[in-house]
Amino acid sequence: MARDLSLLEALGARILYLLESGVREIPLRSPARDLGGAPESRTLSAGGVEPVSAEGLLEEIRRELETCNRCPLGRTRRNLVFGEGNPHADILFVGEGPGSEEDATGRPFVGPAGQLLTKIIEAGMGVPRSSVYICNIVKCRPPNNRPPLDEEAEACMPFLERQIEAIRPRVIITLGHTAASRLLGLRGPMHQLRGKWQTFRGIPVMPTFHPSYVLRYYTVAVRRQVWEDVQEAMRLLKGSGPPSGREEG
Ligand code: URA
Repeated sequence: MARDLSLLEALGARILYLLESGVREIPLRSPARDLGGAPESRTLSAGGVEPVSAEGLLEEIRRELETCNRCPLGRTRRNLVFGEGNPHADILFVGEGPGSEEDATGRPFVGPAGQLLTKIIEAGMGVPRSSVYICNIVKCRPPNNRPPLDEEAEACMPFLERQIEAIRPRVIITLGHTAASRLLGLRGPMHQLRGKWQTFRGIPVMPTFHPSYVLRYYTVAVRRQVWEDVQEAMRLLKGSGPPSGREEG
């Protein structure tokens, strides 16, 4: 009975989210499967020696970051915000950098923007937050929540690249301009970059708005665009649409 109620609550939250996003019709399809690859398919062979699991690789990267001094942000952070989620996730979200709540807790996207991101994932995409992986361009909080400087983003990029290599997601969703420009080298305003498939080392990437932007410019139109972008990613994962329905950048 308790289980039925929580299912109903989840369904209610999803319907509310869709209505708030201006979505009036959804195509019928089979229930979302648990997205996240099989652990055994995600081992890497280092020169044919010992296969290293995604968990092991991520742990190695985290350890290096604990003592990282490649840029000054390590000196002012309270906690490293490495990233969290399923090391075998099909979906990887990349944000900009930790804010105050993330710095305090060591977890990505736990403040107001994080709460909206969780809603987008769970109510909008219909998958548990724990089934995806979430990380940022920089792993230490830039003072006063400013965007990371060139040298900070560049110093942190090899760690993000290694995280992507370890997780090997089937799709990446970048959140906001910093993530789209740093990871993909895109230039131009977000409303032109969003919704158009890109690739990073062969992995399809869907740029969309940052949840903070959605919170700041809380319009049905912006929410609807985020909904369309994440649905596009879900269509790709379910094999029911090429990364094409829209223009490739
Ligand atoms: N904004 C981000 O880009 N990342 C976080 O982790 C939190 C807020």
